[in-house]
Amino acid sequence: MCLLSLARKTWHRRASVKRHHLSFGEESITETMLMDLADRFPGDVVIQPFNKVHEGRYGADWAWAFQSADGTLTLPMLVQAKLLNLQDTEYPEIKRLVGRHQPPVRQIDLFIQTAESWGWPAIYAFYNHLDDSSRVPDICGSLALAGAAPMPESWGISIADAYNVRAALDDQTFDTHQLHSIAFHCLLCGGGSGRRGSQGSPEVALRALHGLRGALPFPDVDSDKRPLPDAPFLDTPAIFHAVRAAASADEPTIREARVQALREEFPQLAGVVILRDEPRTERDSKP
Ligand SMILES: [Zn+2]
Repeated sequence: MCLLSLARKTWHRRASVKRHHLSFGEESITETMLMDLADRFPGDVVIQPFNKVHEGRYGADWAWAFQSADGTLTLPMLVQAKLLNLQDTEYPEIKRLVGRHQPPVRQIDLFIQTAESWGWPAIYAFYNHLDDSSRVPDICGSLALAGAAPMPESWGISIADAYNVRAALDDQTFDTHQLHSIAFHCLLCGGGSGRRGSQGSPEVALRALHGLRGALPFPDVDSDKRPLPDAPFLDTPAIFHAVRAAASADEPTIREARVQALREEFPQLAGVVILRDEPRTERDSKP
């Protein structure tokens, strides 16, 4: 429900941007979305941006981790955000070239390369608003099961496997990329089963990512290389320990020094998000 509300807010913010001709871009959407996440996520949240104020790391990736309540299981993912353009036609930045590389390198190739070297899933987060909401697929099993009316604004944030996104290029259109995308909240919705799974959000999210991998409208020559684990990680990647240690430092100078060290070690990252499930209640454990 938390992710659904973030997506709906994002949808409405993009609508305002269109209506009022605001220059409220991808980074601003990400920042406000993370603020909402910090306020609303029912479990434990750590959000650590690596940018200094006003520095702006345009197009950098975020490292996300879903963790079980006891912290023993982790599903990390590398996330790259992209905006649907104001004409509702395409994501014009997917193909963008980056860096001082000669010849120029596509951002998506570097993104996938980093995720491969870390063994993490690479996920696009698309920020959407469409004037014609009938173009949004209505495929959430959970909402249908709950008897909810179609909810196009749940697609304010949609997600896709980066390999599927790359396989569809040079096509950057919404109508193409929605074919292998799901609404953000469907990462954790369990498809209407109502179950959280014995291993919590890492297990549920991983199942959703495997489902995304199966959505292959385009031939993908790299499918055997995709880092998509069969089970959540038993060892939490070191970066998340380091971020927790930085976030828990009471002394601001110590905290800043730890963040600075992370910033230097991971220049490609805009920041880190860690979402730990809330401890289970009696109600959860009933069949
Ligand atoms: Zn769903």
